[in-house]
Amino acid sequence: MTQTSFDMPQVLSFFDQLQKIFGDMDRNYDIAAQFYGFQCRGCEENCCRTRFYHHTYLEYLFLRKGFDSLAASERSALRAQAANVCRQTELADNEGRAVRLMCPLNKDGMCTLYAFRPIICRLHGIPHELQKPGQPVMHGPGCSAFDERCSDKPYFKFDRTQFYFELARLENDFKQAAGLSGRIKLTIAEMVLE
Ligand code: SF4
Repeated sequence: MTQTSFDMPQVLSFFDQLQKIFGDMDRNYDIAAQFYGFQCRGCEENCCRTRFYHHTYLEYLFLRKGFDSLAASERSALRAQAANVCRQTELADNEGRAVRLMCPLNKDGMCTLYAFRPIICRLHGIPHELQKPGQPVMHGPGCSAFDERCSDKPYFKFDRTQFYFELARLENDFKQAAGLSGRIKLTIAEMVLE
C-alpha cells in the first residue's frame, strides 16, 4: 500500500481532522502531566523500544507524509535502520526471544517525526482510563518512570475514550471514502519500509 493509491486532496482534508484530534490529545495529556509534575526525560525502559502495533490507515499515511518530507539521505538512513529492526525482530521471534529494539525514528532520544507520531506515542506514560460502550471503565497504569516519580500523587482523570472514538470515527469515514476495508497492523519500522 502506498499513499499514491489515494486522491491527495481528499487525504489532506482527513489529515486536517486527524491533526485536530491529535491537538486535543496533546493538550489533555499536557494538562494531566502538569498536574502530576511529570516530564518525560527518557529512561532505561524507553517506550520507543516497545513493539507497538498501529492499526489505522490514517496514522500510517500521516506518518508517511512526515517521512516523505525528509531529505532523501535521511529517508534512506531511516529505511536502513527500519530494515535492521525488522530483521532483528524476525530473528528474535523465530528463536522465541523477547526483544526491545529502539524505534528507527528515535534519534538521540528525540523522535524524528514528532509532529507525525501516532496516537499511542502521544498518550503513553500517564495513568489513564478508557470505557468501551456497555463495559466498565478500564484503568491503565503509567510507565515505570511515572511510577518512580509520581506514584505518591493523587489520581488525575485522564480519559482516552473520546480520542479513541474520534479516531475510530474518522478512520471509518476515511476508509469509506477511499474504498478500503479491514485494518492495518504495522510497527513503525514496518511503516517506514512500506
Ligand atoms: S514514532 Fe517517535 S515517539 Fe513513537 S516510538 Fe518512534 S521515536 Fe518514539
